[in-house]
Amino acid sequence: MKAYIRMQDGSERKVGDEIVPIECFRCGTCCTRFRPEVSKREIERIARKLRIPIETFFAEYVRRVPIKEGYILQSSDDKCPFLRRDEESVKSACTIYAFRPKACRDWVPSLSRVECREGLSSLKGVSELLLPQDIFDSVEQIERFSSTARADE
Ligand code: SF4
Ligand code: SF4
Repeated sequence: MKAYIRMQDGSERKVGDEIVPIECFRCGTCCTRFRPEVSKREIERIARKLRIPIETFFAEYVRRVPIKEGYILQSSDDKCPFLRRDEESVKSACTIYAFRPKACRDWVPSLSRVECREGLSSLKGVSELLLPQDIFDSVEQIERFSSTARADE
């Protein structure tokens, strides 16, 4: 699927299928859309890091599924149990980021991903024209995002 991004000067740039990494702006869309697959070994590692008994972890945060790794992370409200949203900053965070599963570490934020573009669209209420400074907090993040957006020409 092709998409177009309107730049500050009014020009439009096509976003290709190629996954060009961008700085994640923590909209959380990907983590609400997908439930990461996890292996038994990863489940044991996360449970150990969180100091949660393995039986409790399986009962509350894991669902058995017929896929390669055999399990996904999912709580009773159907979400990834480790996603937290800060209502004030409207940013999401992974509470197990340092030891998140491989499926999550392999995910690359990109304007080629429909989830990242949806995340951008959901922020549009902030201003009619969404600027990098509406999304990121630091100058370094803005510069990194701008350079990757240009690379997607
Ligand atoms: S474990 Fe973290 S990165 Fe992975 S889906 Fe859940 S919140 Fe997102
Ligand atoms: S959808 Fe993209 S920008 Fe939003 S949290 Fe996921 S990777 Fe980051």
